[in-house]
Amino acid sequence: MIRSFNPPVRTLMGPGPSDVSPRVLAAMARPTIGHLDPQFIQMMDEVKTLLKYAFQTDNELTMPVSAPGSAGMEACFVNLVEPGDKVIVCQNGVFGGRMKENVERFGGQAIMVMDDWGKPVDVEKVRAALAQHDDIKAVAFVHAETSTGVRSDAQAICQLARDYGCLTIVDTVTSLGGIELKLDEWGIDAVYSGTQKCLSCPPGISPVSFSERAVETVQKRSGTVPSWFLDKKLVMGYWGGGAKRAYHHTAPVNSLYALHEALVMLQEEGLENAWTRHQLHHQALRAGLEAMGISFLVDEAYRLPQLNSVMIPDGVDDAALRSALLNDYSLEIGAGLGDFAGKVWRIGLMGSACSKRNVMFCLAALENALHAQGASINTGVAGAAAEAVYRNS
Ligand SMILES: *Cc1c(COP(=O)(O)O)cnc(C)c1O
Repeated sequence: MIRSFNPPVRTLMGPGPSDVSPRVLAAMARPTIGHLDPQFIQMMDEVKTLLKYAFQTDNELTMPVSAPGSAGMEACFVNLVEPGDKVIVCQNGVFGGRMKENVERFGGQAIMVMDDWGKPVDVEKVRAALAQHDDIKAVAFVHAETSTGVRSDAQAICQLARDYGCLTIVDTVTSLGGIELKLDEWGIDAVYSGTQKCLSCPPGISPVSFSERAVETVQKRSGTVPSWFLDKKLVMGYWGGGAKRAYHHTAPVNSLYALHEALVMLQEEGLENAWTRHQLHHQALRAGLEAMGISFLVDEAYRLPQLNSVMIPDGVDDAALRSALLNDYSLEIGAGLGDFAGKVWRIGLMGSACSKRNVMFCLAALENALHAQGASINTGVAGAAAEAVYRNS
């Protein structure tokens, strides 16, 4: 007989999902009600209001897509890209490559601006691409590349796209709630995000937001949107319909309770305070790792606090070390991707997982596990180095 599944309690310090707060888990266990129940509809309106705060936008079309971040990505591209459209896609890691796929699958032409993994999108290359083509519809890029831990200058790229009259489509899956992100101030037209990174919700929901310009672009389409589920005009009849809300699909009721609670927590903390918290714990983790003799992959100038890519010390067995962390400490950190597989670890400090407790725990576990493998690291100094950062903050 198959029995109930009881997952182990882990500390999630990888590239997502991140630790989910007990408050959010408790919210998820509340009674399921109808998705057209007046009380549920009221909660949906609150989710929209809270998302506008998190994204720093007044965009009317701000809502959670009932599927993971990848579906939010498709929602942006399938609505905004029509056959023949030219879209500049900036790629400096895994997730920019998915944007290219999206543009091409919806009949568009992706004009690639390539940068090395571990480096940010080069704004000058984007400028050159915009100057070279006169019929670009949109510029698409990833704000926080989770595959490498790099932040690109979203404000500068969006300003540039505006100067050339282009829309922007921005992946904010890992940035939302972790680093500064200001949709309206930066003039971003379409974004998608995820719940399982710095919002610290269970995975499976993708907040998206479209500016008025983006909504007009969708309304002016010559053909219908080739996805029924993600067609914004149809979804808005449900999420935007107010009292006249019409059935589109059954919302993931309990997952939305979780998102509501996570966003309430973000509002309680204050968005800027959440950004500052990510920075603080990143600095402490960094001090500890560097004291141990472990260095960072990404330059400080564009390093993400919530995703720390660090070099695996020489001679260390990557898979064995991560297994030891998981089995002996119930601690998950992320492996490197692509060219960085086996060379770097990705240590997440996202949302609820971004705490002093986790920083100190991770440093101690890593030190012990590395020492047990015979790695040449400095022992007995990481904790004090991290503590010094907290003391001086
Ligand atoms: C995690 C992630 C995604 C994909 O989100 P899913 O919820 O896994 O579909 C997209 N972009 C970035 C930058 C991510 O980190």
